[in-house]
Amino acid sequence: MTIQWFPGHMAKARREITEKLKLIDVVFELVDARVPLASRNPMIDEITAGKPRLLLLNKADMADPEVTRLWVEYFQGKNLPVLVLNSKTGQGINKIEAAAKELVKEKFDKMKAKGIIKPRAVRALILGIPNVGKSTLINRMAGKNIAVTGDKPGVTKRQQWIKVGSSLELLDTPGILWPKFEDQSIGLKLAVTGAIKETLLDFSEIVLYALNYYKDHYPQRLQERYSLEDIPQEGIQLFDEIGKKRGCLMSGGYIDYEKTAEIVLRDIRAEKLGRLSYERPDQV
Ligand code: GDP
Repeated sequence: MTIQWFPGHMAKARREITEKLKLIDVVFELVDARVPLASRNPMIDEITAGKPRLLLLNKADMADPEVTRLWVEYFQGKNLPVLVLNSKTGQGINKIEAAAKELVKEKFDKMKAKGIIKPRAVRALILGIPNVGKSTLINRMAGKNIAVTGDKPGVTKRQQWIKVGSSLELLDTPGILWPKFEDQSIGLKLAVTGAIKETLLDFSEIVLYALNYYKDHYPQRLQERYSLEDIPQEGIQLFDEIGKKRGCLMSGGYIDYEKTAEIVLRDIRAEKLGRLSYERPDQV
């Protein structure tokens, strides 16, 4: 899928989210645990207009567990409740219901005391940029027994609710946010993690970005994977070394950068370099 956000798209996405927000009590903001800032919409506070929010660090199975732990501390320190997930296997999703209940407890208690509402399930919406795993998570939470609870009053469009556990209802379609592309590194991070298609950016540039990051943060992984004795100072030299090791040479002994980039990107995608994160809270 090619993602290109034009002002018109953004306005439409925002309108759709605003409609959905009217129906729900809490927002589940889904981000990629490897790039929790780049995969986030910076306008999220404004967009969600004060709805209680639970941040879900998805794809944690591919992220560096130590860095994910730091991110959890970081967001908790900002009073943003956070959970760590693997939506593919379902790991961590059993904690969502309780966390959602906790988020609305005060408001629900007050409304109940005033007799405004009867006890009812907490209604939630999943929000996130494309490819962070929204559909995967919705399917996981729905499980095999999708219990559609029907339309709610005041809804113009048909909205289906998925019942999760005894006290949570999830809107069956997520809210789609747009990523922020103003800073070039954001696009590169999203390309490395597969959130946007490589073809949108220069292939070698993506890999060079990743290699530079590994050089500083995961030098050992590089050494092991590509049997390097030393890690060069410059990312471009690293490119050369890996190209040589992998026999990516053109006539005249020049390094075939395109081929080298392809090999490295394939390794990244296949997790041959292990679990990696591309953002750390101490660099915010
Ligand atoms: P959406 O665009 O946000 O709805 O994203 P999808 O649900 O279509 O997921 C995008 C890709 O990420 C798919 O290939 C999923 O299988 C994969 N994916 C989703 N969640 C996880 C996860 O927790 N771990 C891993 N490894 N892959 C995931």
